[in-house]
Amino acid sequence: MSLVIVGSVAFDTVETSFGRREKIVGGSGTYCSLAASYFTRPKVVGVIGRDFPKKTLALLRSRRVDLLGLRIRPGKTFHWEGRYGEDPNVRTTVRTELNVFRDFRPEIPAAYAKADIVYLANIDPDVHGFILRQFGTPKAVAMDTIRYWIETKRDALVRELGRVDIFFANDEEARLLSGDSNLIAAGKTLLGFGPALVVLKKGEHGAIIFGREFIFGVLAHPHARVVDPTGAGDAFAGGFLGYLDKAGSFARREVRRAAVYGSVLASYAIEDFGIGRFLTLDRAAIECRFREFRKLVSF
Ligand code: AMP
Repeated sequence: MSLVIVGSVAFDTVETSFGRREKIVGGSGTYCSLAASYFTRPKVVGVIGRDFPKKTLALLRSRRVDLLGLRIRPGKTFHWEGRYGEDPNVRTTVRTELNVFRDFRPEIPAAYAKADIVYLANIDPDVHGFILRQFGTPKAVAMDTIRYWIETKRDALVRELGRVDIFFANDEEARLLSGDSNLIAAGKTLLGFGPALVVLKKGEHGAIIFGREFIFGVLAHPHARVVDPTGAGDAFAGGFLGYLDKAGSFARREVRRAAVYGSVLASYAIEDFGIGRFLTLDRAAIECRFREFRKLVSF
């Protein structure tokens, strides 16, 4: 199968209780594609400025990430700044400089049109239609969102959920979008908007996957040290979708395994600032933590 990821490739400035890093590489498309690259050859659609480091592009290529859909435009790369308090689950966006991302109307290379899985990471819901029209008939369309779109374009977002198969949201977003304070009720309400699968991420508490006829829970790795939570959600999606792409099936068993791989990739992403942990992470470590997850819940 094949997986296309449409998302931001960015510079991030982050401050956590472990320190501050200025203009390190981030972006939802970057985290997601690196995480997925352990299972499949993801294709990335995004835009960067000429200031984006060649070294990172070389890293992505060395991980077999297809960059044909990544446009380089004159101007500066998207720059996001976020700050976390003592509680790593609470994040404040300090600034968002859209730069070349401002007028991003993703053009999908013809070679990507037959993708089996399309993932729309944090994309303006009003642009989804424009993107999806350029694809044939993917087996699954997945999307994530952010608080900003829920607050500014709720109707468009709910409309888009009607044509999405897999929806990722964190607990705060799920409550806000569904209007339900109980997370189980929220998951069910979101399923009612259209997706066949709703993946609710709960930070250090793991994730719950809602299907039409099942609910599956996965823990997060029990970390006492969360260096930088940025990108955990995107790494989860990358592990989850990358695994499903490789498995070539959306059977319930594969969805459950995908959720564990999602949690494994997210757990590694937060161990260092930015994409730092991915520089050394190998497949053996992923399998090792996958087995630890099994031990964690078998009784
Ligand atoms: P996550 O922590 O998984 O929610 O994703 C964090 C990533 O999202 C960061 O690396 C940012 O560069 C990126 N990001 C933040 N705001 C936006 C936005 N408005 N559009 C696209 N990407 C964003």
